[in-house]
Amino acid sequence: MFSHKNSYFSKMNASNEVSIIGGGLAGLTAAIDLLNRNFKVVVFEKNEYPKHKVCGEFISNEVLPYLENLGLNIDSLQPTHIFKTELSTHSGKTIKAKLPLGGFGVSRYRLDYYLSKKVLDLGGKIIVDNVQTIDYLEDNFTITTQTDQIFQSKVVLGAFGKRSNLDIELKRKFIQQKSPWLGVKAHYSGDFPNDIVGLHNFKGGYCGVSKVENNAINICYLVQFESFKKYKNITDFQENVLYQNKNLEKILKESKMIFDNPLTISQISFEDKPKIENHILMLGDSAGLIHPLCGNGMAMAIHSAKIASELVGDFLNNKISRVNLEASYTSIWNKTFKNRLKFGKFLSKLLLNPYLSKVTMNLLLVFPFLLPIIIKKTHGNPI
Ligand SMILES: Cc1cc2nc3c(=O)[nH]c(=O)nc-3n(C[C@H](O)[C@H](O)[C@H](O)COP(=O)(O)OP(=O)(O)OC[C@H]3O[C@@H](n4cnc5c(N)ncnc54)[C@H](O)[C@@H]3O)c2cc1C
Repeated sequence: MFSHKNSYFSKMNASNEVSIIGGGLAGLTAAIDLLNRNFKVVVFEKNEYPKHKVCGEFISNEVLPYLENLGLNIDSLQPTHIFKTELSTHSGKTIKAKLPLGGFGVSRYRLDYYLSKKVLDLGGKIIVDNVQTIDYLEDNFTITTQTDQIFQSKVVLGAFGKRSNLDIELKRKFIQQKSPWLGVKAHYSGDFPNDIVGLHNFKGGYCGVSKVENNAINICYLVQFESFKKYKNITDFQENVLYQNKNLEKILKESKMIFDNPLTISQISFEDKPKIENHILMLGDSAGLIHPLCGNGMAMAIHSAKIASELVGDFLNNKISRVNLEASYTSIWNKTFKNRLKFGKFLSKLLLNPYLSKVTMNLLLVFPFLLPIIIKKTHGNPI
């Protein structure tokens, strides 16, 4: 928490209307939206841009109209356009289907960097620093960073992702429990169709495969640590576990990694998280993470930025009180996303159970029209 000893040595900065903690998809989108509404916005991001992130990098088209309305030119990033999906089980049984809305593939390296430049173009500030504490007192926030800078703000948006030092600082419940999930991602060169996103099941996890810009193939998987820890390293794990699914074996054997090493993240939590903490509105993964098999986390991050920006605009224009702002955000978030998250959890349990995934796959092979219905339940309508 805020200490007076710190303040003695720190630099006090001018006050902002909106401070956004975390410059990933949710934070940068909210910044662009609020800058378009003419508010004074600052984003705090602990890492420099551009940077690769563990992510499948398939984005649902449901957010395209909103991104275009914000003045963003997604086509300038040369994304791939993805309209089909391909699922396979441990045993390699495969089913293909058309995606109801489709999506696009672009690396986070390119997308986040593009959004960060847009924030600067619109007159926003990006401060590369790690936020340590956020205190709320007398209708105002005080933010302190690792370099001992202090900022005042009327509104704070928490967009600090899946797991942050701030979750510990805010004593969030989910951070006190261990989570078994580990994410691994790398870009590869090789032959893979531009218009397909694959989801391939293996023992203890599942792997997404799709193309991004520059002909790169993104291979990204989520796995339970129990399944992973028996092996010496990632290569050993992939050859012994992922290769059991013949589709994955073929894709991995025929591709060549472009990264020096795969990126990994651990302790990914899918637990419920409060949407407001200490008067901070939580956006994107800070509000709750959907199972990556749904391919909807990025769309949800962007959509949550839209919901928050509209309400924050009303608050700063004195149309609603802070109490209304917080209650409306929680209620709209739950109405929009809660069922998607629940369904994603259910699907992940189904997929990871060898018997149930086999039964489900056999059912889908007989009734293929069910697959787009299932996909629709984890996605939203265009915004
Ligand atoms: C294995 C895996 C595969 C996935 N695949 C897909 C997919 O194909 N499609 C999809 O739609 N979604 C996918 N997702 C989900 C998607 O990656 C997330 O939902 C999305 O990145 C959320 O964006 P965000 O802005 O909330 O968080 P992030 O993009 O993680 O941004 C949070 C930012 O906050 C910064 N930060 C944290 N703490 C601080 C601090 N104290 N001070 C300053 N900055 C801080 C971080 O550096 C980071 O840049 C996947 C997730 C995983 C784990």
